[in-house]
Amino acid sequence: MPGFELFGDQERKEVNDVLDNGVLMRYGFDGMRNGHWKAKSLEAELEKTFHSKYVQLVSSGTAAVSVALASAGVGAGDEVIMPTFTFVASFEAILMLGAVPILVDIDDTLTLDPKAVEAAITQRTKAVMIVQMCGSMGDLDELQAICTKHDLLFVEDACQAIGGSYQGKPLGSIGDLGCFSFDFVKTITCGEGGAVITNNKDYYLNADHYSDHGHDHEGNDRGAETHPFLGYNFRISELNAAVGLAQVKRLPEFIALQKKHYTILRDALSIIPEVTFRTVPKGGIESYSFLNFFLPNLDVSTRVSEAFKEHGIDVCWNYYNNNWHYVKKWHHLKESKSLYPLSSEIKDALSSLKTKDFSQSDHYIGRNISCLIKLSWTEAQVHERASKMVKAIKMSL
Ligand SMILES: *Cc1c(COP(=O)(O)O)cnc(C)c1O
Repeated sequence: MPGFELFGDQERKEVNDVLDNGVLMRYGFDGMRNGHWKAKSLEAELEKTFHSKYVQLVSSGTAAVSVALASAGVGAGDEVIMPTFTFVASFEAILMLGAVPILVDIDDTLTLDPKAVEAAITQRTKAVMIVQMCGSMGDLDELQAICTKHDLLFVEDACQAIGGSYQGKPLGSIGDLGCFSFDFVKTITCGEGGAVITNNKDYYLNADHYSDHGHDHEGNDRGAETHPFLGYNFRISELNAAVGLAQVKRLPEFIALQKKHYTILRDALSIIPEVTFRTVPKGGIESYSFLNFFLPNLDVSTRVSEAFKEHGIDVCWNYYNNNWHYVKKWHHLKESKSLYPLSSEIKDALSSLKTKDFSQSDHYIGRNISCLIKLSWTEAQVHERASKMVKAIKMSL
């Protein structure tokens, strides 16, 4: 997945453009910048990539989720339904707005189970946020139908899924708003950065203003601009955007490499009857950023993880006991360990996670192994890795 693996002259050239004229900020300083608008140019590129009318760059993927939700009016006390398997950023971004994260079970797609979503809807539910973990998706038609039926916002956290698609549409472009991360370990990187995408002009303008202290961005005198509503600072810098501009042009090359490496590994593992693969909904194409497979039970997947380590197979994880990606070890969340006071609605919801039954999620995450697909491997290395993986799995069954 990581774009930092293939990093060189194109990235350097874009960054040097910025350094040469010294305008490190994305807004203003029109006269000094000699026509260089890296953030604006990257937004235009991403609009093409995502077949999306509007793209707002921000400072991180976490910021993208907060800005997306804020742009659509999600705030204090509103419930946002999200999966148990994700990165901690998902609930952080919700909590930042005073909204309440409601965690629900995943299914064999490794993201939201539509039945669990429907069961979690209350009077206070405002949004459903799917997280397209490890490059693939949930049943987006079914989830969209639930959101339409209950008049809920549908948000996609597609931070790990750039390049994937569903029924011909890029992941991230299907819900009301989509969120991306360009942090250092994502498929394309800005160093740090993120994006909100949408076809809704109001949400876009809200995101544009909100992520820059409420600036309306009218005219070319920043000091004279008005502030129609309160905002924050989630701006990306020109330096970061410059890196992303070089990287986004290489996205097709990166996805092709991921697909090639993924396919070699998957074909090799397919000969083992005990290995099954994550369900990809009909019409879905993965981004190939990870290969995910299931083993018969937690014992086997634990033994396979250990055997992988012994055989020198890195970047593969069973997330069951992972601190950052699965609800089981999010003790800080369940115990509301916040530096500052949280509302009673939030504390009640978080405290209920201690006793909530997530056995369905345990069933899938306990049996799953997620293997990152790297871009820098040679084909020979991928074949060698594939045969070592097969050997390690067979000896662990
Ligand atoms: C990386 C990631 C984020 C957060 O992105 P940052 O840019 O690191 O803030 C959010 N959600 C998912 C699924 C991610 O993988």
